[in-house]
Amino acid sequence: TTTTPSLLYLDAVSVVFDGFRALNNLSLAIDQHEMRAIIGPNGAGKTTMMDVITGKTRPTSGQASFEGGKYDLTKLDEASIAQLGIGRKFQTPTVFEMHTVEDNLRLALKADRRAVPTLFWRESRAERERVDSLLERIRLKDHRARKAAELSHGQKQWLEIGMLLAQEPKLLLVDEPAAGMTDQETADTADLLREIARTRAVVVVEHDMVFVRDLGVKVTCLHEGSVLAEGPLDQVSANERVIEVYLGR
Ligand code: ADP
Repeated sequence: TTTTPSLLYLDAVSVVFDGFRALNNLSLAIDQHEMRAIIGPNGAGKTTMMDVITGKTRPTSGQASFEGGKYDLTKLDEASIAQLGIGRKFQTPTVFEMHTVEDNLRLALKADRRAVPTLFWRESRAERERVDSLLERIRLKDHRARKAAELSHGQKQWLEIGMLLAQEPKLLLVDEPAAGMTDQETADTADLLREIARTRAVVVVEHDMVFVRDLGVKVTCLHEGSVLAEGPLDQVSANERVIEVYLGR
């Protein structure tokens, strides 16, 4: 048994839209440096759960807290939650197409939630080292001087992940990172996420079961706004109720 409090804790969260329960008593705990995969059929509540964590949607009831209960996410706005160190990667990459790869990262570093605002652009040695280290991690070192517009879809996804890492989030939420990627890019993305999860927590919403298997992490299956099953993928995918919701509709 461990007494270490969870990094993220959702306790009996419900979200009701016009009488419809998008989340229904959802409880979830994510530890520091844990990577968790969230699966579930369309309409299961995955997006709504991410919206609650990032402050985009307020729960109708229940608790959502961060850093062992230090912060009540239900009382903070989106900007404050981002400041706490919760980053979110949407499915479509939003990079600055006309800027180079390294300039995209520089812009993201300037927006670092911990950075001291400076009036003039002067790249310090420390900043240059951070750009280099990010380029290395996101596998774009050889593409640093190219315009983001020239990157493949997969490379753009990595660049956006790099831009989020520039903010040093404690928790990174990622929505279907492997969608539209080649097999090689998908495998590289799994490696990248595993590396990221060595130093922070990652929550991945994913439909691609091959990718989830490759991640090799604990899986939570949502259905009708609640947790249907949780555990290793083999166990969850053998669960009769999980098979029913995936096949029986
Ligand atoms: P998932 O991401 O797992 O596909 P969602 O969280 O997007 O599921 O949606 C859960 C349910 O809540 C769906 O039935 C959806 O139609 C409904 N829903 C989501 N957002 C809203 C909203 N803003 N207003 C009304 N219903 C919504």
